[in-house]
Amino acid sequence: MEAGIVGLPNVGKSTLFNALTAAGIASENYPFCTIEPNVGVVPVPDDRLQRIEAHIPTQKVIPAALRLVDIAGIVRGASEGEGLGNKFLSHIRNVDAILQVVRCFENPDITHVDGDVDPIRDIDTIATELLLADMQTVESSKDKAARTARSGDKEAKARLELLARCAEVLDNSQPVRSLELDEDEQKILRSFGLITAKPILFVANVDEDDPAGEGPLVQKVRDWAAANGAEGNVVPVCARLESELAELDDDDKLELLEASGLTEPALAVLARAAYKLLGLQSYFTAGEKEIRAWTIPIGATAPQAAGVIHSDFERGFIRAEIYALDDLEELKTEKAIRDAGRLRVEGKGYTMQDGDITHFLFNV
Ligand code: GDP
Repeated sequence: MEAGIVGLPNVGKSTLFNALTAAGIASENYPFCTIEPNVGVVPVPDDRLQRIEAHIPTQKVIPAALRLVDIAGIVRGASEGEGLGNKFLSHIRNVDAILQVVRCFENPDITHVDGDVDPIRDIDTIATELLLADMQTVESSKDKAARTARSGDKEAKARLELLARCAEVLDNSQPVRSLELDEDEQKILRSFGLITAKPILFVANVDEDDPAGEGPLVQKVRDWAAANGAEGNVVPVCARLESELAELDDDDKLELLEASGLTEPALAVLARAAYKLLGLQSYFTAGEKEIRAWTIPIGATAPQAAGVIHSDFERGFIRAEIYALDDLEELKTEKAIRDAGRLRVEGKGYTMQDGDITHFLFNV
C-alpha cells in the first residue's frame, strides 16, 4: 500500500513525513521498497501481533507496511508548469491513496504562501491543480484511444467512452472519484492513473496546544469534507509534536503523549484511517520463524490472500487452516485449538475475515 503526501509549501509536509518515517523499517523484509529520498516505509502499528507473540514465541515479528511518498511541488499553477512544474505528476500517479496535509496551525513566523491560514482555500487550491492535471491526462489519453478505436478495437472504444465521462465530471470541477462505476469500468479507470480518482484523506496539521484538533479550523475542514463526499476522512495531527515523539524512547513517548492528551501517535491513527479509506484489512501468519501481518482488500478470498504472500500460493491453493486470536488467547496453543475443534478448514470460496490467523496448504 502506498500513500502520497501532498500539500502547499509550508504546511508541514516534510515535518510530518520525517516524523512518520523516523521509525523506519528493516527493508530486507519488504522487497518492494527501494528507498529514494522522498520515500519512506513505515510499519503499520497493530497490537494483535504482540498478542499473538505472547503465545507463539518467534524469531521475528513483521508488521504490515505503508509506503509513504513525499510529493513536493504542488503550488498554485503547478499543473501549468509553475514551481517545480508538473514533475510531481509522475510520483503521484502510482500511489493508492492521497494524504493531503492542510495547515490548521497558526504561527505568524511561518508564512503561508497565500498570506493567511485558510484550510478550505488550501484544499481548493490543491484540488484545482489535481483536476487540471487530470484534464490534461484525459485529453492526451483520449487522442490515443480515439486512434485505436478507429481501427475497431472494442476495448479502446470502452476506454474512450469512460474518458469522455471523466472529462465531463472534471469539467464540472468534480473529482473523478465521484463517478459511479461498475467493476469493469473501475479496472479501466485504474489504468488511466488519474489523480482525482484516488481516495483522499485530509491530515489537518494542528497547533501543539490543540493536538486533538478541537479548534475551529479543523472543524471547518471536517464540515467541508462532510459536504464533499469525504465525511470522516479528516485526521488531526500535530506534525511538530509527532517529530518530537519520533525522537523519544518508548517510556518518554508515552509520557509526552499523555501530557498532550493523546493515547497513541499519529502514525497509528493515520494507518487505521488509510486502511479504512482503502477498504483494507489484515490477516496473520504465525510460526516460530516469524509472525507476520499481511494486507488484503476486504472481501478477498482465501486463495487471493495466499497470493499476497506469493503468486504460486494462489495458483496452487488447496485449503487454509484458520483460527481466531480470541481462541489463541483462551486456549494458549494451536494444538489446543485443533483439539477443541476450533481450527477451521476453509476452501477456495472462503472470504477472509479481519485478523484470521492462517496456514495455507498449497501445491507448487
Ligand atoms: P512543507 O513545506 O509543507 O514541507 O512544510 P515544513 O514541514 O517544512 O514546515 C514548514 C514550517 O512549519 C516549519 O518551520 C515547521 O517547523 C512548521 N510546522 C510544521 N508543522 C507544525 C505544527 O504542527 N505546528 C507548528 N507550530 N509549526 C509547524
